[in-house]
Amino acid sequence: MVETEVEKKKRALKVLRILEKYYPHVTGFLQHDTAFHLLIAVILSAQCTDERVNKVTPTLFKKFPTPQAMAAAKQTDVEKLIYSTGFYKAKAKSIIGCSKGIVEKHGGKVPKTLEDLVKLPGVGRKTANVVLSHVWNIPAIVVDTHVKRVSSLLGFTKNTDPAKIEHDLMGLFPQKDWNELNFKLIQHGRKICIARRPQCGECPVSRLCPSSQV
Ligand code: SF4
Repeated sequence: MVETEVEKKKRALKVLRILEKYYPHVTGFLQHDTAFHLLIAVILSAQCTDERVNKVTPTLFKKFPTPQAMAAAKQTDVEKLIYSTGFYKAKAKSIIGCSKGIVEKHGGKVPKTLEDLVKLPGVGRKTANVVLSHVWNIPAIVVDTHVKRVSSLLGFTKNTDPAKIEHDLMGLFPQKDWNELNFKLIQHGRKICIARRPQCGECPVSRLCPSSQV
């Protein structure tokens, strides 16, 4: 039988409530002290683990702690410090360009709107939404690789485009739950609903999941 939108919303909320209990203490995974540091850490996390990013950022931020310092950095100096995160040339260019944008267009402060954030070099919707939700607690849905996969398996979206998935999830969940949803889906994707080998037998939401193998 085809699930109605109302039934899907009810099921989605049940899933979230179960995940909230199952992962009670999940917070962000990228270490940071300021909005600027989180923004740079998220740019560095593309195609790289958070653990690896957390290894390079203390030295990077010690040398270039502010948007002003990073904007004035030599690209080769930044490249050396972030080399192990991969795609280091493109990332160095992005974080210097992004820092310049913050200094030149926003008086050295990280902007607080999606519209302004995505205009900065190297900042896409995902990065912008991480900053909005994690730093300023502004409701935002972050569609990373885990959210994309888990949402699809749970039947919350049929889309593959991140902006459309974001829109689908916004329609399914109340705005007050968006930030919590990010953490829970990401944690679930890391711990149990793992790419290519989801552990459905251990999954606390398996009876609510249309893709369950148990
Ligand atoms: S039942 Fe399986 S596919 Fe569904 S959310 Fe749980 S682990 Fe993922």
